[in-house]
Amino acid sequence: QHPDIWQQLQTHLGEWVIQSKAQAPKGHVATYIPELANASEDSLSICVMDGSGATVTAGETDCLFTLQSISKVFTLMLALIDHGEAVVFSKVGMEPTGDDFNSMLKLELVEPGIPFNPLINAGAIAISSLIGGDTPEKQIERALAFFRDIADNPSLAINQAVFKSESDTAHRNRSLAYFLKDNGVLDGEVDDILRVYFSHCSIEVSCKDLARMALVLAYDGVDPIRNKRLIPRRYVQIAKTFMITCGMYNASGEFAMNVGLPAKSGVSGGILTIVPGRYGIGVVGPALNRKGNSTAGVHLLETLSREFDWSLF
Ligand code: GLN
Repeated sequence: QHPDIWQQLQTHLGEWVIQSKAQAPKGHVATYIPELANASEDSLSICVMDGSGATVTAGETDCLFTLQSISKVFTLMLALIDHGEAVVFSKVGMEPTGDDFNSMLKLELVEPGIPFNPLINAGAIAISSLIGGDTPEKQIERALAFFRDIADNPSLAINQAVFKSESDTAHRNRSLAYFLKDNGVLDGEVDDILRVYFSHCSIEVSCKDLARMALVLAYDGVDPIRNKRLIPRRYVQIAKTFMITCGMYNASGEFAMNVGLPAKSGVSGGILTIVPGRYGIGVVGPALNRKGNSTAGVHLLETLSREFDWSLF
């Protein structure tokens, strides 16, 4: 379809990875979840997958990492599947905050005290409460089955060490959740809902899994490899809109300016992005900038977008 791009990727992706490692501003691995501090600070890898499942990869692509906030895009779509738009948007808003992802500053500002959007921590915790299932165990099972289906990988699993590490130290997320409970946003027990939230954040993937998941979004909810619809188009449209406006936290404007593609990052250093109708892309570089995004990963995506004129704008 675009043989020139594919050939250029095969020729240059390795050198662009080396360049981004050398030229990106220095970052640091997240330490507030102690287990994430074990990641290798200067690694960077990428997988680009086309609609036939062919890939071009570069870097240490066999390393595994947890989805963290990238999972929020998928739990949003799962909550939409389970409850529809009216219920979901009675619990979260549609606007970026301009604040850090774990901020509590604006929780009282949208009537009636709902989080600004589903991709900040407060919003994603509200979304976790909407995943179908009578018990937290069933909700976790349902989420895991959904992620496995999207990634077409039945062996995706929760990294229990990361789950425990986050659960043991999540004082801030706990306070956000209690605040939401008090505002009447959460039905159910705070501890149960947080267990669901920490579980989907702790699902472990490779770069290739991430690219495979991205591919389904790039094709508006249809898996082009199995030729099977997995998510209604409207819900992918909603998810992609949030990825543009809030996917890179409070650096989403800058990323839209310099890369111009829907994307979602996580504090493990992963970034999922798409070239609509063409490619799913998974990147991981654990060293983060001040806003919580992979510094080398953002640099690499800026290079690709510039080289191939991928910006949607
Ligand atoms: N599990 C992480 C947290 O709640 C996810 C945050 C992120 O990736 N930005 O802090």
